[in-house]
Amino acid sequence: MKIRITLFSFIIIILLFTKLSNAQENSEYIEVSDNLYLITNISGGNVAFLVTRKGIVVVDAGSTPSNGQKICSIITSVSNKPIKFLILTHFHGDHINGIAGFPQDVIIIAHKDLAKNNEIYNKKNIDNYISNILPGHLVNLKLQMGEIKDKNSKEYLALKKDFDNNYEYLEDIKNIKFRNPDITFEDYYRFKIADERIMLEYTGPGHSSDNVVVKFSNHNVIHTGDLVFKGMVPYLIIDHGVDVHNWIKTLDDLFKENILTVIPGHGEIGGKIILKEQSDYFKSLSKKIEILKNSGLSLVEIKEKIDINDFDMKGNENQFPINIEVIYTQLVGKGAEWWEF
Ligand SMILES: [Zn+2]
Repeated sequence: MKIRITLFSFIIIILLFTKLSNAQENSEYIEVSDNLYLITNISGGNVAFLVTRKGIVVVDAGSTPSNGQKICSIITSVSNKPIKFLILTHFHGDHINGIAGFPQDVIIIAHKDLAKNNEIYNKKNIDNYISNILPGHLVNLKLQMGEIKDKNSKEYLALKKDFDNNYEYLEDIKNIKFRNPDITFEDYYRFKIADERIMLEYTGPGHSSDNVVVKFSNHNVIHTGDLVFKGMVPYLIIDHGVDVHNWIKTLDDLFKENILTVIPGHGEIGGKIILKEQSDYFKSLSKKIEILKNSGLSLVEIKEKIDINDFDMKGNENQFPINIEVIYTQLVGKGAEWWEF
């Protein structure tokens, strides 16, 4: 895993490798609220599902087709009702690349820009990985393996493991099939299934230009997609429409609502305090950047000066300098007005 991460671009990392932190090793799911479950111990973004007598609603599809299949088999082990709806929180591959593993007739719901974003940002990347990057990487690993005489040496076995993982992964992503959502919306979409009310809300760009919040109204539980990275550094990708100002505003607005449990895009579930923690992270990092900027430091110097250990986060550490850069540009660059939250 480590070797792969150093070799791959950060885009492919968010496509695939962001794992649930502290996932429970022994169970495949936990019941968050009555009939509402979180799947644990899978790669990719957090997947939730709600069982109703008329069918099952799933939020996010996992990071690869085989991952999507695994999600569906876990769901089937809980209920024999059909998987009826698949809600996609946003277009990042670690949330949608598992679609191929879902039943063909599942009704996909997403923001109106998701399909366009997938076309622009994901498709070429995936094609490039399938046709060029991964085959090239496999040839390279084979060459390295060929140079080692002792086939039982640690070095050889490590390379072999890397090769096998990448080979398996390549075969898996060859099966990625994106399906255009059947239902799309611009600002919000509300629907009822059996006795359950579900509200999807688009509060403007935050983590991406198409991120939606899923509200399980009967349970006071929300799935935030990647608007919350619990306990780890969030991904801020300019090209994907990140808007930190509106992201903070969305989190602060949600925090005022009557919410019991928050399922983040990545990391452990929590009470609504985790919305505030995410918002506070941005505010506190912004404040530090602003002070240093006002004391005359350049962006490069600011990056060197701010210590990641001042924040209680583990995971995606390589994203921290990018966080500083984006916040420096988006929030601090705007002047004093940004601070009025
Ligand atoms: Zn994301």
